[in-house]
Amino acid sequence: MHQLTSYVLGRWTEGTSAPTALHNPTTESEIAQVRSGGFDAAAVVAHARTVGGPRLRALSHLERGEILRALAHALHEKREELILVSIENGGTTRGDAKFDIDGAIGTLTWYADLAKSLPARGFLVDGPGLQLSRSPRCWGQHIRVPRPGVALHINAFNVPAWGMLEKMACALLAGMPVIEKPGTPTALLAWRVAQVLVDTGKLPEGSFQFISGSLGNLMEELGPQDCVAFTGSSGTGMKLRASNAVIRHNLRLNIEADSLNAAVLAPDVEAGSESYNLFLANLVTDITQKTGQKCTATRRILVPSARVAEVRADLIAELSRIKIGNPADKDTRMGPLASGAQFRDVGAGIERLAQHGELACGGAKKLFEKGWFYAPTLIVARAGRDAAFHAEEVFGPCASILPYDGTAAEAAEIVALGGGGLVTSAYANDPSWCEQYVLAAGPWHGRIWMASDKSAEQSLPPGMVLPSMIHGGPGRAGGGEELGSERGLEFYLQRVAVQGFKGLVEASFGDPKTAVTTG
Ligand code: NAP
Repeated sequence: MHQLTSYVLGRWTEGTSAPTALHNPTTESEIAQVRSGGFDAAAVVAHARTVGGPRLRALSHLERGEILRALAHALHEKREELILVSIENGGTTRGDAKFDIDGAIGTLTWYADLAKSLPARGFLVDGPGLQLSRSPRCWGQHIRVPRPGVALHINAFNVPAWGMLEKMACALLAGMPVIEKPGTPTALLAWRVAQVLVDTGKLPEGSFQFISGSLGNLMEELGPQDCVAFTGSSGTGMKLRASNAVIRHNLRLNIEADSLNAAVLAPDVEAGSESYNLFLANLVTDITQKTGQKCTATRRILVPSARVAEVRADLIAELSRIKIGNPADKDTRMGPLASGAQFRDVGAGIERLAQHGELACGGAKKLFEKGWFYAPTLIVARAGRDAAFHAEEVFGPCASILPYDGTAAEAAEIVALGGGGLVTSAYANDPSWCEQYVLAAGPWHGRIWMASDKSAEQSLPPGMVLPSMIHGGPGRAGGGEELGSERGLEFYLQRVAVQGFKGLVEASFGDPKTAVTTG
């Protein structure tokens, strides 16, 4: 039985509270315990600010990038072991485990590569300089400087490796030390990842700390130069937004929360076409990958009313081929929900939604005597605008078909009822339909993913988050933004408008590639 510890003040420390049990969701047996506490929160924050931050910022972007590369190599070396931990603690299939672990390694490597294009100076130039008055001597330049605080990262249970590393990559490259708190149900994988990172010996003292269990009063220790990046449910996001620490200091807070992601089938996509087949394949992936516990998974499937029966039949046929069972078995395509609490929440959510439509397949029935398994579940809504389908995220292998009239305008209106999402996908060939949909759905989303017959064969699935593109969404999705290449560093930097004599401003703060120092 593993006893999870916290890595604080440069050492692994045992917690002191009563233990919380972690389980293998396939067998329901207890595999680890987490005890919170055992550290002085003020000292942990001070260690990051006064030891970690200065050591990190003494390094160039390139040197910080090389640290990220070393972390990626170390995780890659332990990849097989980490996959097994993910299967044991997360109930993930091997493919699901790779989605998380390889995603983490890939994102670290991507930011290590980005570091090569960042300046040797410790700040970033933001746009071109500009003349501010009639005299060309009066000049302005925006720059971004690292904040001398600490980044607290609160992560969700469903992507313990990627969720921690995608945030860390941006913070460390920007020059900010991190305190990582994993979601407790799958913290065994996060803890093992943290051990691998610490064991590299590459992380400057104080630049990385890891807290198992609850944060205790740590948020209270944060101040105006610190920031919190949170991923999780919108309920917890609301609590953090209303917390004293955030209100008192206008603490910078990024929230990545629930999202009722929608896939829309346009009327011109013919049955049997590449786009239609991709539509079905991506939906099956979203419903079953990580047992539907993916923030970008499609929850609402908008289908022209006349084609609901066809899509329903085709999806049921595809979903019935999914082998459910022990995720350690090679041919298993879908494992259990990650925890007993998840199992109960998802079951209750399915039952609530099913009252507003017809249960086409699956349902809240426990599949086996042991293990938190449900079958892939599809619900067909009676009405596309029924509020129930736009209010609740069932964070499991469940999606709903919603009828609409086939116009881009109605699709976008129905999708917007979800209150803001991470990603919406559209399958359409008509450019004018696509343009209308993008412009109407755009304000409600962080990302719009399009497939047509011309690109279907080459496309990456909509649920895949890329380090080069932004991730996040307005409203219900939290209002946050992560990744997106250099944009991902902005959260950890302060933008400053520097105004003064052109010779000084341009020479010290301008883009060296374009600056011409004039007297
Ligand atoms: P959660 O229950 O909200 O927990 C998220 C994190 O917040 C966990 O680390 C949790 O710790 C911590 N937490 C809970 N209460 C807290 C408090 N009062 N103060 C500080 N921290 C607190 O969410 P979850 O069940 O782990 O994750 C599932 C949700 O995350 C889903 O809704 C999913 O859509 C969303 N998600 C969103 C994204 C995205 O990028 N937008 C990505 C992944 C997941 P404990 O576990 O110790 O309670």
